Amino acid sequence: MSAGVSTQQRRGEMAAAAAAATSGAGRCRPSKIGAGRRPPPARVRVAVRLRPFVDGTVGASDTPCVRGMDSCSLEIANWRNHQETLKYQFDAFYGERSTQQDIYAGSVQPILRHLLEGQNASVLAYGPTGAGKTHTMLGSPEQPGVIPRALMDLLQLTREEGAECRPWALSVTMSYLEIYQEKVLDLLDSTLGDLVIREDCRGNILIPGLTQKRITSFADFERHFLPASRNRTVGATRLNQRSSRSHAVLLVKVDQRERLAPFRQREGKLYLIDLAGSEDNRRTGNKGLRLKESGAINASLFVLGKVVDALNQGLPRVPYRDSKLTRLLQDSLGGSAHSILIANIAPERHFYLDTVSALNFAARTKEVINRPFTNESLQPHVLGPVKLSQKELLGPPEAKRARGPEEEEIGSLEPMAASASASQKLSPLQKLSSMDPAMLERLLSLDRLLASQGSQGAPLLSTPKRERMVLMKTVEEKDLEIERLKMKQKELEAKVLAQKAEDSKEKENHCPTILRPLLHRTVTVAKPLKKAVVMPLQLIQEQAASPNAEIHILKNKGRKRKLESLDAPEPEEKAEDCWELQISPELLAHGRQKILDLLNEGSARDLRSLQRIGPKKAQLIVGWRELHGPFSQVEDLERVEGITGKQMESFLKANILGLAAGQRCGPS
Ligand code: ADP
Ligand code: MG
Repeated sequence: MSAGVSTQQRRGEMAAAAAAATSGAGRCRPSKIGAGRRPPPARVRVAVRLRPFVDGTVGASDTPCVRGMDSCSLEIANWRNHQETLKYQFDAFYGERSTQQDIYAGSVQPILRHLLEGQNASVLAYGPTGAGKTHTMLGSPEQPGVIPRALMDLLQLTREEGAECRPWALSVTMSYLEIYQEKVLDLLDSTLGDLVIREDCRGNILIPGLTQKRITSFADFERHFLPASRNRTVGATRLNQRSSRSHAVLLVKVDQRERLAPFRQREGKLYLIDLAGSEDNRRTGNKGLRLKESGAINASLFVLGKVVDALNQGLPRVPYRDSKLTRLLQDSLGGSAHSILIANIAPERHFYLDTVSALNFAARTKEVINRPFTNESLQPHVLGPVKLSQKELLGPPEAKRARGPEEEEIGSLEPMAASASASQKLSPLQKLSSMDPAMLERLLSLDRLLASQGSQGAPLLSTPKRERMVLMKTVEEKDLEIERLKMKQKELEAKVLAQKAEDSKEKENHCPTILRPLLHRTVTVAKPLKKAVVMPLQLIQEQAASPNAEIHILKNKGRKRKLESLDAPEPEEKAEDCWELQISPELLAHGRQKILDLLNEGSARDLRSLQRIGPKKAQLIVGWRELHGPFSQVEDLERVEGITGKQMESFLKANILGLAAGQRCGPS
């Protein structure tokens, strides 16, 4: 696959397309940070593409039943009244002679730039089977479609914008999935089962556990995309020899991280969707499985129609959740994306009814209003350390010069274009650059929370002085409380350590050599010890060899027990050295830390390598993490929906020693 157009040429076209874009949507959008107002609307744009007659297909010698009138409108015969035609107007109409480049440059390229503003964009190919959706989206090596062209441009753009000398570092990742019979299947990892679709607290739709591949070049993209495309479910119907039986969704994410303070991060999501066609089962001759597939496809497209209608009528409930497709498209229709629907139609007469219904759907979709906004936040992990190292590296005057003047003001947290005006409204209470980064992040989170709850008020960071003082006081109090708790924890830890030191001293006094009791013990029949912690053999051997082995392995409890010696005729009462396997707290802590690291950083596959974690639980854990952030302690597992306290405990028992000993657990 090759986009077949020179990069230089494309870059020029892209700039021209961006300049000429008539979407009217957000040249400078309010960022999600501090967004107190509703973002301005951007209508879903609709283009119609009429494919030419295709040699060898039924009806290739017909006269066309659709005719283009100009670059935006078309007419189709009215089956109720042969004297009349039905006329439609869209944002663009592409006739039989239009090229792949016409469609791309005219309708898709202009929305790509929004990704670099941290906004979302979606391109959907809609229409009956055989009308040219896959041709439009994917194309062929000779006539590459929207997908290769968009990827080529996007990668080029991110390379330029993310160059070392530019203020933002950029990275691009791709995921590829299909929705087949209401199942979400990962095309980059066919071993994963049906994935769940979730919504985070900011209203973003996400699929926990979905494979994401980082791509830096078009070759990278092809390396992942081509084999994955072969995984796509295709079948043969009478209408189309290799008709696609599923909705194929390519997701490309552009992640931007600001190199200097205030270290913002932005994420723009691009969906490129090749929808399966909604064919009439009576015409396709579908039976059995094919009929069932058609049912599922029709059902999801039917819900898609209902979603569009609900949005247009302003109904309080939009049935996004009624199908996987619409749930996934929640961002794209009536949501936050710059969306374009390309309705593909065919000229042959036997497509007439499908064509009319596709045009009617397209006309309804044209009325849907989206509200795109910049998905921006501060980089939580690098905020502290990077800021420090910048200062250390540059020293105050240089650092200031490198940051640029805008960082001194709150406006730097808004999109750059909006920074100047916003900065003037700030309270003089405290400049952002001198504010503790952690506190700043928390204030911004509060802002986001209020914005997501529909607060119409001004963002907190530009509220009047008195309110800001109250807020900051609350945050400070919370910080103090955290400090107090930390100190208390340290005290408790110190106490435990002191107690342990005492215990081991006592033990030394009672028992000069560790092995003595074991050596002189004959075979005895004794009641089992109440508490026995079993340690993996490898660990015992390793620790026995270590100089402070006694700390880890054995502990004399020094209790009296009744023993029955096989040699002795009578059971005798004697002081028994009651030995118990004990694991050092450091070792346990090590094991816990390893589990915690895996919970926070491991992929669903890594998690599945833990004992008692199957694919479902692994996915739940990854989902929880994506929604709530990192686990602060292993016990947080209990908070994951579907994992009980008991399961969490048995999970800990099963894994802690193995991981502490550096062993890799087998799959459960
Ligand atoms: P769909 O994905 O909607 O089922 P396809 O993209 O598979 O339809 O198109 C059906 C056939 O029509 C394919 O052989 C394809 O190559 C051809 N075709 C579709 N659109 C065009 C076009 N604009 N120009 C030439 N051939 C086309
Ligand atoms: Mg197709």
